[in-house]
Amino acid sequence: MATIASNLQAVNCDIARAAEMAQRHEQEITLLAVSKTFPAAAVREAYRAGQRAFGESYLQEALDKIESLGDLPLEWHFIGPLQSNKTRAIAENFSWVHGVDRLKIAERLSAQRPQHLPPLNVCIQVNVSGERSKSGVAPQELMPLARQVAQLPQLKLRGLMAIPAPESDVAAQRVPFARLRELQQQLIAQGMALDTLSMGMSQDMVAAILEGATIVRIGSAIFGSRPAPRAS
Ligand SMILES: *Cc1c(COP(=O)(O)O)cnc(C)c1O
Repeated sequence: MATIASNLQAVNCDIARAAEMAQRHEQEITLLAVSKTFPAAAVREAYRAGQRAFGESYLQEALDKIESLGDLPLEWHFIGPLQSNKTRAIAENFSWVHGVDRLKIAERLSAQRPQHLPPLNVCIQVNVSGERSKSGVAPQELMPLARQVAQLPQLKLRGLMAIPAPESDVAAQRVPFARLRELQQQLIAQGMALDTLSMGMSQDMVAAILEGATIVRIGSAIFGSRPAPRAS
């Protein structure tokens, strides 16, 4: 039976192979292990196999895990939907937030980020699949939002994130990822210092790396399949 350690090893090999295909250094790509729905014991097992960065989508579940794993030097990323009533706990307990798509949420995260912590790293989520996805800012609204988010004192705007509509072949998967990379390049050309493209999940990781992903968010390939999504 596959273990978390052997799955992690396989995913890291796949990352290295995709990086080589893309003529990139594998060190440019960070593996974010998405542990949502899996118990703290699974995170501990991944930690023992060398994994440090973990992604969570459901706030209460995440807070319980963060508390029970407080003895480990882990880096927590919030990757779930953002609502106003959750921003304080997120600002206080996470190092990264990937799904910022409204100024109001960004302002709250900045205001609620404790002063003794380093700025919260954020990615703006972009809707690169048009009608098919509801979350994420529309590409034409990205530039003004990015300018405003970049001004917030307790946030550090690191880059962009997307969850494209599922496609089965690599060529089709690459299209929205390439679009996200172009949008990132436009922001950089406007003087923004961005270094992060958060894109790629278990089913489309290779396509994302070929298009420049710097963080891949991988859940099921490491921890196994999850029950159907539930409300957060
Ligand atoms: C659940 C989730 C993932 C991981 O998906 P897998 O298909 O299990 O790799 C990545 N990103 C986000 C935003 C998620 O919600």
